[in-house]
Amino acid sequence: MKTLREVLQQASRDKIAIGHFNFSDLVAFNAIVAAARELKVPVMVGVSEGEREFTGVAQAAALVKGVREEYGLPIYLNADHTHSIAKAEQAAKAGFDEIIFDRSDIKFEEDIAETKRAVEAIKSINPEILVEGEIGWIGASSSVLEKVPEGVGVLTTPDEARQFVAATKVDVLAPAVGNMHGLLQSMVRGEVQKRLNIERIAEIKAACGTFMTLHGGSGTNDDDFKRAIKAGMTIVHVNTELRLAWRRGIEAGFAAMPNEFSPYKILPVAVESVKKVVKSRLELFGSK
Ligand SMILES: [Zn+2]
Repeated sequence: MKTLREVLQQASRDKIAIGHFNFSDLVAFNAIVAAARELKVPVMVGVSEGEREFTGVAQAAALVKGVREEYGLPIYLNADHTHSIAKAEQAAKAGFDEIIFDRSDIKFEEDIAETKRAVEAIKSINPEILVEGEIGWIGASSSVLEKVPEGVGVLTTPDEARQFVAATKVDVLAPAVGNMHGLLQSMVRGEVQKRLNIERIAEIKAACGTFMTLHGGSGTNDDDFKRAIKAGMTIVHVNTELRLAWRRGIEAGFAAMPNEFSPYKILPVAVESVKKVVKSRLELFGSK
C-alpha cells in the first residue's frame, strides 16, 4: 500500500486532487468507502475533534485499517482541525496518516511557534505522519450558516505562506483563498456558489512549494475546483454537503419505512444519499 505522501506526490504530478470527506458514523464512512471503491481511487477520510469524540480515536483508526486490509483500498485517515498538541499526539499514537494542527485562531507569530512545536511532537511519535498547518481564517463550522462569519474573506499572502512553511516545516498548507467552512442558506438553495482566487493559489504554491489543501469545498463552483487543482491544490475537503445528504437520507429512510425498526434496513437509504455526493466530487477532483 502506498503511503499518503506517495499518493499526494502522484496526484500532484497528475494535477488532480485527492478527495477528503469527514465521517462520524458508519453511514458516512460506508458511503465514502463505497464511492472510492467503485471509482478505484485513493481517498482521505477525516474526523475533527468533535467527530472523533463521537467515533472514538482508536475506533476510527480501526475502521480505516479494516477497510485497507479487507479491500486493499488506499484510504487514509486524517485528524481534522486539531487544536491542541495533546489531541495531536493521541491521534499520532493511534496510527493516523495525517494531522491538521490548526491554531489559525491566534496571532500569526504565535501560530508559527505553536505549529512548530506540534510538528516536532508529532514527528517524534511517527516521522511518516504528514502534518498540515493552517493560515488565514475561513470560519470553523461545517454547518448551514445565516451569514459569512466575521473576518472571513481575507486572503493568505504568498509571503505569509513562505514564512509559515519555512519556520514550521509542515508538509501540507491550508491557505485562505476565497474558501469558507460551511454553507450559506443561499448556497443550499443553489442560488450562490463559492468562488476561489485561482491566481492567489498559484502564487502561494510557487512561494511555499508544499502540498496544499482546499478546506471548505462544499458549495464551490465546479470550474473553480478544476482550476484550483491545476494551480496547486492536492487535497480537497468536503464536509457540509455530506452532512446535508446524511440528514436528508436519514429522513427519507424514516419516511419510506415508518414501521421498520432495524437500523441496517433503514440506513442504506442514507448511505446511498451520501455516496452520491462523494462519488460526484471524487469524479470531479480525479479527472485530468
Ligand atoms: Zn477544514
